[in-house]
Amino acid sequence: MNATKDFFMMLSQNKALNGAAKRWGLKLGAQSVVAGTTIEEMVESIRKLNAEGISATIDNLGEFVFEKEEALQAKQQILEVIDAIHQHQLDAHISLKPTQLGLDIDYKFCLENLRDIVAKAHDYTIFVNFDMEDHSHLQPSFDILEELHQDYDNIGTVIQAYFFRAEEDLEKYKNYRLRIVKGAYKEPAELAYQEKAEIDANYIQLIEYHLLHGKFTSIATHDHHVINHVLQFVNEHNIPNSQFEFQMLYGFRKELQLELAKKGYNFCTYVPFGNDWYGYFMRRLAERPQNLNLVVRQTFNK
Ligand code: FAD
Repeated sequence: MNATKDFFMMLSQNKALNGAAKRWGLKLGAQSVVAGTTIEEMVESIRKLNAEGISATIDNLGEFVFEKEEALQAKQQILEVIDAIHQHQLDAHISLKPTQLGLDIDYKFCLENLRDIVAKAHDYTIFVNFDMEDHSHLQPSFDILEELHQDYDNIGTVIQAYFFRAEEDLEKYKNYRLRIVKGAYKEPAELAYQEKAEIDANYIQLIEYHLLHGKFTSIATHDHHVINHVLQFVNEHNIPNSQFEFQMLYGFRKELQLELAKKGYNFCTYVPFGNDWYGYFMRRLAERPQNLNLVVRQTFNK
């Protein structure tokens, strides 16, 4: 199983394939988990979700950008997404990756790009979530978040339960709106739990702590064991529905997404769109090789 995971992780980081895939259009079954390549297609998908009582967090796909021009282009696209949310009155907010906005190029350059995005979103009272990437980007992403939080309150981030430092980070940022996840990247054993049981146990512990002591909590998982545990926990501790939401990725466990929304829980779907879909898609295959079923189905049901 680990060999399969490593294989898809390796593919997700392949620069040549990442670059080439931008010219392919959505292929390999990615169309089942990516909501189109244009703003119009994304808006249409979100309108459908909103009609089902589900909100959205929009990811204009892109990461590991090494050219200033590309980062500025990404910023422009995200500003257009913010305009689209406002114009179409979508129940949606933004998710973005700091490396897409130039974190690997220059810290200050990235900070200013993010400031422009957060400031515009603030004008429209739209929330912006910083996705968390691999360990090498963790601290600078938190640093930018802290700097911007001095001026803007419409930002939050992600705590990845596989990191040993996650508990400390959760305590430090408990007054931010946080999404808590297991963690999607391959991380070294000196920094992160490697065993699923250990990651799951830490995940539950972090969620419980933030539900009891933190601001709004987004519980982002497809794991029904975790979801059932949370439902029992909030019931036992009289935690109101307004304190938390569940999140899942677009195209995954749609029936469960709808079931939770229909039961009155806040539900938010993570909606990725755009040409830069390849790395995102390969990480989903690495997480759960059964997701290959989606690919096969998509390939044969044209
Ligand atoms: P897993 O541990 O993958 O699965 C646990 C169990 O759940 C499985 O054994 C199975 O029984 C069930 N299950 C899981 N998937 C399915 C399915 N598709 N169909 C049926 N049963 C299923 N990671 C980051 O590192 N940074 C981020 O910023 C980030 N943001 C995220 C945002 C959202 C909205 C989500 C949902 C995930 C995000 N992730 C992020 C990814 C996350 O860290 C995990 O890698 C990913 O969610 C897989 O873990 P899991 O909790 O969903 O369940």
